[in-house]
Amino acid sequence: MSRVYNFCSGPAALPEAVLKKAQSEMLDWHGAGVSVMEMSHRSDEFMSILASAKARLSRLLNVSDDYEILFVQGGASTLFSQIPANLVNGFDSACYLDTGAWSSKAIKEAKRYTKVNVVGSSKEQNYSTVPDFSSLNLDESAAYLHLCPNETIGGVEFSDLPETQLPIVADLSSTILSRKIDVSKYGMIYAGAQKNVGPAGVVICIVRKDLLARSSDDLPSVWSFANLAANDSMINTPPTFAIYLADLVFEWLEAQGGVEAIEEINIRKAKALYDFIDSSAFYSNPVDPAFRSRMNVPFILADDSLDALFIRESEEAGLRTLAGHRSVGGMRASIYNAMPMEGVVALIDFMRDFEERHG
Ligand code: PMP
Repeated sequence: MSRVYNFCSGPAALPEAVLKKAQSEMLDWHGAGVSVMEMSHRSDEFMSILASAKARLSRLLNVSDDYEILFVQGGASTLFSQIPANLVNGFDSACYLDTGAWSSKAIKEAKRYTKVNVVGSSKEQNYSTVPDFSSLNLDESAAYLHLCPNETIGGVEFSDLPETQLPIVADLSSTILSRKIDVSKYGMIYAGAQKNVGPAGVVICIVRKDLLARSSDDLPSVWSFANLAANDSMINTPPTFAIYLADLVFEWLEAQGGVEAIEEINIRKAKALYDFIDSSAFYSNPVDPAFRSRMNVPFILADDSLDALFIRESEEAGLRTLAGHRSVGGMRASIYNAMPMEGVVALIDFMRDFEERHG
């Protein structure tokens, strides 16, 4: 067996210790005589896994009793519709900040439900920066303000939030658990699991309890946040194995020292890679340095006719999935929590060597 360094943006690398633990429990989970995949979701065993996942996530992010943790299906893209469907009830519009491909997709879907007020956009800067928050066109009578603090494709990240009384709804799919956040500043947080949490198939949602009252009885039952909360995310069969893996990832993260400890490592990893890119005349990163993502690092080669060779040689060197998103090309290294510093060092060494040979 030879594991490579996997820079995929998602589904992304999982901690090896988690995969090994899942492997050791695969045939017989804690003496149950079956794997987690084969148990009733209503069994005491699975209920204990669900409770553990919620408790660990709550500890890792310091989630107060004012919030409900939900495990939702359909991917983060489903939430692009589910959020306006639940939260716009009783309002005429919603505010959206447009900072890249994922915010734009959220805007497109929300428009099917309500009037969307785009409060600011960096589209004209080719999504390489974040609009100045003091110039946002906020409407304080809207249902909420939606934003995406880490744009996975563009590699743009921000940590400050705009000043507003509106509930802030944040798509944290590619940054959750990578850095400290103050959950109390948000109305709702959601994140597809397949980057920093676990396998695809579950979306982590943290919703302020007062917002649950907005879910109308006319919604499809499985879409209603209020209904999901009332049924402990078990209106129907939840993605049990994905939730179990998420619990193992949370356990691993606690053993690393939690979000604060992993954030230190993430800062060091990102700094090493950006410093190298900035020191080179061959590689470049197009993002405003104030808003460079710690998780997704896009870069381009000075000569794009070398792209295919770069991908081929990097794969041969055990560095997997460095091609940029199909919509933008170039390269992208996703360096989520499970990517060790050694993987980033191996990438930098390869990039230096490639430049010396072909630059
Ligand atoms: N939001 C962000 C920030 C993402 O990176 C992604 C997926 N890469 C999505 C939403 C969509 O997630 P899903 O594929 O789970 O629908």
